[in-house]
Amino acid sequence: MHVTDIEVIPISHRLPEGEGLGDARGFGHDRATTLIRVDTDTGDVGWGEAFAPGSVIAPVVDEFFRDDVVGMDPFDVRRLAEASYTDPYHFGGSVFVQSALSGIDVALWDLVGKATGKPVHRLLGGTPRETLTAYASTMYFTEADRDIAEPIRDAVDEGFSAAKIKIGNGTDSDVERVRTARQLLGDDARLMVDINGNYRPRQAIRTAKAIEEFDITWMEEPVPPENLSGYREVKRGVDVPLAAGEAHYGRFEFKRLVDDRTVDVVQPNLGRCGGLSEASRIADLASTENVAVRPHIWNSAVGLAAAVQFAASVSDYPHTRHVPDPMMVEFDRSENPLRDEILRTPFDPTGGEVDVPQAPGLGVEIDEDAVERYRADR
Ligand SMILES: [Mg+2]
Repeated sequence: MHVTDIEVIPISHRLPEGEGLGDARGFGHDRATTLIRVDTDTGDVGWGEAFAPGSVIAPVVDEFFRDDVVGMDPFDVRRLAEASYTDPYHFGGSVFVQSALSGIDVALWDLVGKATGKPVHRLLGGTPRETLTAYASTMYFTEADRDIAEPIRDAVDEGFSAAKIKIGNGTDSDVERVRTARQLLGDDARLMVDINGNYRPRQAIRTAKAIEEFDITWMEEPVPPENLSGYREVKRGVDVPLAAGEAHYGRFEFKRLVDDRTVDVVQPNLGRCGGLSEASRIADLASTENVAVRPHIWNSAVGLAAAVQFAASVSDYPHTRHVPDPMMVEFDRSENPLRDEILRTPFDPTGGEVDVPQAPGLGVEIDEDAVERYRADR
């Protein structure tokens, strides 16, 4: 089996004016990402996702990957992550090189799974899980004036027992949002908060102390992702676990997050961190410092499928018997047809769980007509 072609497919969806969704940094209207399709001589097709703009990923693939990947045996997949740091020398640490690599790597693992008849999580050799706890990513800041309680009520109605909400607009607002979410979710639900790097350490500490009583499972990106000394300052000052990783890529950056337990939870995105090969290395790194791994997912259904396969493969080291700390996958509850429409059988988080696909590869079937509907380069 060898690769005959790589196609870079940008897809996007625009939210209506006035309906933008946001985090503490502002509102956005565009959901956009890039699918990678890899064809082979056997007729099998592999799919991956680079969580970055297609207009950037296309030339990166052409310049740094196409010659190497076309003709390659997908079973050689792990060598690509190594090659990304040595050839292109000096460029491997770029987010766009790692994002392009992520899409290609996931597509190659999809092909290895199809060639062997095994789902990717089995190939990665971790703990086999048939279902995963899904947490609702919700209570965004909204451009339109909306009741902040409504999205949490919706999540509870759907059966979620874990949710992550946006905060980061000042401590009073943070407390109001967290209190509302906790009241509606109940005492037993897991509640995470996401500041999207909008605070300086002192402000993050003030908020963390104010919301600590609401039993926060983690506080995500309290300070900008680049500010690792800021993470350590926050950590020294609070008793709320910290999480980061959606803006990080490659094992070298994740090592800095893991070292000295700068954070308690790392969140690799399978469309950015370097793919499944690199994510499994990151999970191994995290285990050496007892840091949890919970993938970040704001992707299309392809990136979601990769994250679900990855999450199902990550071991529980060290075991958390009698202190439940389940692997969780993020399930964004905002409008996104790139997540809901491009698979023949979309993931269904009803009841607060998703099934881990057991079919070969990523275990999902792409609806190529739907992909064409959202294609952004025509
Ligand atoms: Mg986040």
